[in-house]
Order: sequence, then structure tokens, then C-alpha cells
Amino acid sequence: MGLEVTKALSHAGVIDVDIAVVGGGITGLTATHRLSRAHPRAGVVLLEASSRLGGKIRSHAFPDGHHFDTGPDAMLDTEAATTFCADLGLEAEVVTPGRTGSGIWSRGRVVPLPPGLVGGVPLHPIAVARSGILSPLGLMRAAGDAVLPRHKHGDVSVADLVGRRLGREVLERLVDPLVSGIYAGDTRHLSARVVTPTLYTAEERHRSLILGLRRRGPASGAAAGTKLVTLAPGGLRQLADTVAAQLDGKVDIRCEDPVKSIERDGEGRWLLHGRTATWRARGVILTVPSHCAANLLENLDADSATQLRGIEYASVAIITFAYPTAALPTLPKLPGFLVPRKAGSLVTAITVLSERWQHHHLDGAHLVRCSVGRHGDSRGLDYTDADLVAHVQQELGGFIGISGEPRQVHVARWNQGLPQYTVGHLDRVGTARRRLGEGIWLAGAAYDGMGVASCISQGRRAAEAAASKFLVPTPATAVGVAP
Ligand SMILES: Cc1cc2nc3c(=O)[nH]c(=O)nc-3n(C[C@H](O)[C@H](O)[C@H](O)COP(=O)(O)OP(=O)(O)OC[C@H]3O[C@@H](n4cnc5c(N)ncnc54)[C@H](O)[C@@H]3O)c2cc1C
Repeated sequence: MGLEVTKALSHAGVIDVDIAVVGGGITGLTATHRLSRAHPRAGVVLLEASSRLGGKIRSHAFPDGHHFDTGPDAMLDTEAATTFCADLGLEAEVVTPGRTGSGIWSRGRVVPLPPGLVGGVPLHPIAVARSGILSPLGLMRAAGDAVLPRHKHGDVSVADLVGRRLGREVLERLVDPLVSGIYAGDTRHLSARVVTPTLYTAEERHRSLILGLRRRGPASGAAAGTKLVTLAPGGLRQLADTVAAQLDGKVDIRCEDPVKSIERDGEGRWLLHGRTATWRARGVILTVPSHCAANLLENLDADSATQLRGIEYASVAIITFAYPTAALPTLPKLPGFLVPRKAGSLVTAITVLSERWQHHHLDGAHLVRCSVGRHGDSRGLDYTDADLVAHVQQELGGFIGISGEPRQVHVARWNQGLPQYTVGHLDRVGTARRRLGEGIWLAGAAYDGMGVASCISQGRRAAEAAASKFLVPTPATAVGVAP
């Protein structure tokens, strides 16, 4: 069909392309990069609403020039993420934490996460007993998992599954802080099937969570050795910047060009109405947050839009402080820890970045990153920046004994920043995809995994699916791109 040589043709404000990628976050950037590498002559446009690429990947520099991420600051080193960094020529910049280890704030102190936790479920009762995180009664209740009957199938909340099998203490002191730490979520609403699939499957197959997890064989994910990595010295921002630089001049990238609506023409092509033109595309990769996607798809299919609007989001803030070293005379035992919902604080997680990462080591100062807010708790986000900083400073005093004034502070607000995979998520996304049909791909944080590494893999998969449907393979596809 010769689509590889399709040139963008403008007819009365309508521009023909093979594939339109909507949204220039890491998912859209990965998809566009993949298409550009494998199909350099294809007509691809990347449409981004804001003035910059990267989406949630964002950084800030203090006046002394020290850069730090204000959105995601690390990613899992999955196969997709490492291959992508290698494709970009960034292997040498990938770094692991200088100091590892995470803990939980438990009854007035930071407690290291005991060994043998899978999704927060303790497989080794002795290690958990030693940690003091659970009371003797809590441990006894967890042991009840061995004899309790199986529950009916179907999606349930993480709190329902874990609370029912292992009791409230395991839920509130272990699973909830860990899961909330990743999703800024509420385990009473998050889907066990999506958020803790290993736990869900353990009950489904073995009835007992603990026995099921023990029998499951080699662990997967973090338990199997997947590490957190970032890029130094620029942070994850470097990832987005490198993709953008490599796409420059090769792909039509339009910033400040929000897509306002999407419809289909009589020949099955997609019409994307943007600020500057209408784009007529054979395929669309839609990587915007789901509530934005819902607005774009409203006229095309109101039911899909309704499903996508059903995906809720949590709003959070990241506050980064540079404190003089004298303000924190004793460093916390661990460079990072999570704060359970039960503690009632605004702060949900604290990382001493200058301890965690070598490239954040500062002369005479500690860099401290605090996360605030979670689904159902937006107290902190109603404050002005000044009030929010004052409250968080006060809480930092209680948590890690920090005192005095910071040299610098930066507040990043992420309104509707983190999608929530609540009970029924798979059905919502499945229905929306089925109704939209072929030729349009929903990819990104709202759908199949919200971490940066997962977004990279979703972007890659969407690009491959779109290319195999609409683009003719070129020799470059065969040699240049790993499967
Ligand atoms: C505070 C915070 C901390 C996080 N920490 C981590 C972490 O440490 N590790 C980790 O792995 N993950 C982390 N995450 C999650 C991760 O950063 C995100 O899930 C991921 O970056 C989302 O990428 P995306 O491409 O799917 O979407 P986004 O980054 O949201 O990009 C979507 C893009 O679409 C654009 N857009 C919206 N509407 C339109 C339109 N109509 N037309 C055109 N463009 C449009 C937006 O402007 C945006 O650029 C964090 C997230 C937040 C908010």
C-alpha cells in the first residue's frame, strides 16, 4: 500500500498522517520513538497539549543549580525500561541507589521492612515478629489465613482480601502503607486483581494467601530482584529530554496543540481536531490521562467516555527541601520510609534523597523529598504553598527530628496526578477498548500500569500494534529494533 512513503499532505486544514500519537508523556514519547526508529519514513505526528514534553516527568533546579525530579524520581529496571535506555544510548547514565532499604513508620519509629514480604504479606512470621510491626495478637490473627475458607471469585478490594484473610493489622501496618505508597491510593477501593495480582491469584488457586505465596515458586517483580534505578545526574527528566532530542527533526512534534475531539470519517480514518489543524490518521495512540481521553472521545462513543471517566485519580504534592546538615544531626536509619494512613499525617512518604542517591549528595545540605496526599485525603492540597510547607516542616520534626529552616524549598502540585485502579478497573478498561474497536490504542498510566517502566512498555506495545496494522515493515525494522 506504500504507506511508509505517505507524506503529510495538507488540504484545507486537514493533514494526512499514518499514525497520530496524542500526549507527550513518557508513554507517547516511547511510542513515537519506537515508530520513528522502526519506520523512519512513516507519517507520524505527536500532539501535546502543554508547552513541554515529558508529562509527569518534570524537574526543578534550586538556585545553586542542583536539579531534582518533582514527579517520578525512579523507575523499575524492567526489560522494557533497560532496553529503552539502551536504545537511547543512556546505559551509562542509569544508576542504582547509593543506599538501599525502605521502612515503615510504625508506632512512633521507622522500622525496616522485614524480609519475606510479598505485596506486604509476611511469609516469615518470625522476621515480622522481631520487627515489632505486628502485635502478638495481630500475628495470631494472620495465622488464621491457614484455616479460613476460600472466598467467592470476582474482583474485590485489596483491603477486603487482605483484611479478611490476614486481619486488620497486616492490612493497616504492612499492605496499606506499601500499596498506598505506590498508588497514593486507598486499599478499601483499589482492585486486588489489578494492584496485588499475586495475592489475588494465591487465594484463587490455593485458598490461603501465605501458603499460596510460598508455593508459587520463584517470585516475580520486585521480589525477584527488579531494582529501582534513575538517571544521573539529570534524573528521569534526562530520559524525556533525550527522547525529545532524538525525535527532533524526524517526527512532526506539535506542542501547545491539544486535541479537542476525535471522530471517524466515512472511510474509517480518524479525524483529530487540534488547535492548528485537523489530523486525518489511519491509527491513533491515545496516551493522555483517562479523564482527558473521555473528553476527546465523548462524541465518538459516549459509553467509552463514561467508562474512562470512571477511572478516578488521586491528587498529590511533592515538597523538596534542602536543609543545612546541622538541621538533621542524626540521619534516619533508612534513606526512605512510608507513613501509614493511620498515622493521620499529611506526609505519606519521606526520602532523604541525598542519602538515597549519590548524585544528590550535597556539600553541607540534605535534600529531603516528602509526598503529601492520597486518594480520599486531599487536606494538604487545600493549603497555600506557605501553609503546606509549614505543616510538612512540623511533621518532619516529628518523623525525623529535623529542626530549623530549610535553605530552599520547592512545592510541586499534581492535581489528578495518579490514576486509581479501583475494583472493576479491568472491566472498565476492557469495555472502553472493545467499544472503540480497532485502530485506536489506549495506552499509559491510566490503563495497564502506572509506573514509568510500565508506561514505557505500554508505549512500545501500542507502537508495535499500530505499526503491524498500518505500516509496511522496512529493512530497518528487522535489524534496528528488538522484539
Ligand atoms: C508525583 C508523582 C510521583 C511519581 N513517582 C513515580 C516514581 O517514582 N516511579 C514511577 O515509576 N512512577 C511514578 N509516578 C507515576 C508516573 O510518573 C506516571 O504514571 C507516568 O509518568 C505517566 O506517563 P503517561 O505518559 O502515561 O502520562 P502523562 O505523563 O500524564 O502524559 C500525558 C500527556 O498528555 C498531555 N495531554 C493531555 N490532554 C491532551 C490533549 N487533549 N491533547 C494532547 N495532549 C494532551 C498532557 O499534557 C501530558 O503531557 C509518579 C507520578 C506522580 C504524579
